[in-house]
Amino acid sequence: MTQRIAYMEPVPPDVQEIIRSRLPDGYEIDFRPSDAAPVAFARDADFVMVATTRIDDSLLQAATQLRLVQHQGVGYDNIDLEAARSRGVPVAICPEGTSVGVAEHVILLILSIYRRLLEADASIRRGEWLQWELRPTSLELAGKTVGLVGFGRIGREVAQRLRGFDVDVLYYDPFRADVSVEEAFGVRFVSLDALLAESDIVSLHLPLSAETRGLVDAEFLAGMKQSAILINTARGGLVDQTALIDALRNGVIAAAGLDVFATEPLPPDSPIRALPNAVLTPHIAAGTADALRTKMDACFANIVAISSGREPANRIA
Ligand code: NAD
Repeated sequence: MTQRIAYMEPVPPDVQEIIRSRLPDGYEIDFRPSDAAPVAFARDADFVMVATTRIDDSLLQAATQLRLVQHQGVGYDNIDLEAARSRGVPVAICPEGTSVGVAEHVILLILSIYRRLLEADASIRRGEWLQWELRPTSLELAGKTVGLVGFGRIGREVAQRLRGFDVDVLYYDPFRADVSVEEAFGVRFVSLDALLAESDIVSLHLPLSAETRGLVDAEFLAGMKQSAILINTARGGLVDQTALIDALRNGVIAAAGLDVFATEPLPPDSPIRALPNAVLTPHIAAGTADALRTKMDACFANIVAISSGREPANRIA
């Protein structure tokens, strides 16, 4: 019998087409229309695939034949794991196709700030030619210090990609890596305070949890160099947004590259949209066509595993 996969994110038709192109035989996949309530949409699903839609106990209770919640990334703060455990529904994440895209996006955000990319492009389109004017505020990555807050899968991919840029890389993580790993990635473990004080670029690579929510507050930002930039491709909830806006307006730090926000989509009237010293992207760090294909293959392989009575990869509950 054909099994139903409920894809919880309201995605446009060309994204649906890529996803369908990877679907194995024996399954049908439905895409949630943006006006459909998640609980009703998931009700008769055998499998749920999700990115950012909230999967709470009411959804798990309604979806009585659910056999797996498959996250298509790794940031699972939107899933109530306790509820899934108590209802016996396995949950799996998908590191495949996630870490590389995010790491490349970190480099993109750093360089676009350092080289004033958006201003350069916009000024040309206005008919200007700022060959000299952008120079005093354009920087090179070489010789700078990058601090990674969190040194898991993505932190390591970033460190790997920074190797060619001649930078010093520091990291802080409550779980220090083996010395052999530190040597292999060319990174140095420091306290969070030391990382903030020494880094020209602070990049967040830790999960959002009750403990980490609001970690980047006024005190954190004041601990950074005034010339430093903050990169957040992890989760918006890690940052006290009011404190960040104040810090960017008042020169506490120089700039920010932000892919994630406390509220997504970012509200149209958010003051963040008006900050001249922020480069903003709409939660697309892992959002490439390449990554989507890789992710779908891994997610569907997990669904097939469950159907065949096997354990899914990267199970977290
Ligand atoms: P991971 O679990 O491999 O690594 C996270 C690391 O953070 C771990 O080493 C952990 O010990 C560390 N950590 C936990 N608490 C910390 C703290 N207080 N200070 C410093 N480090 C701490 O996860 P990952 O695959 O590297 O992903 C990291 C996060 O990136 C995800 O949780 C997700 O929220 C986010 N993410 C965002 C996108 C995007 O599209 N923007 C895509 C993928 C992942």
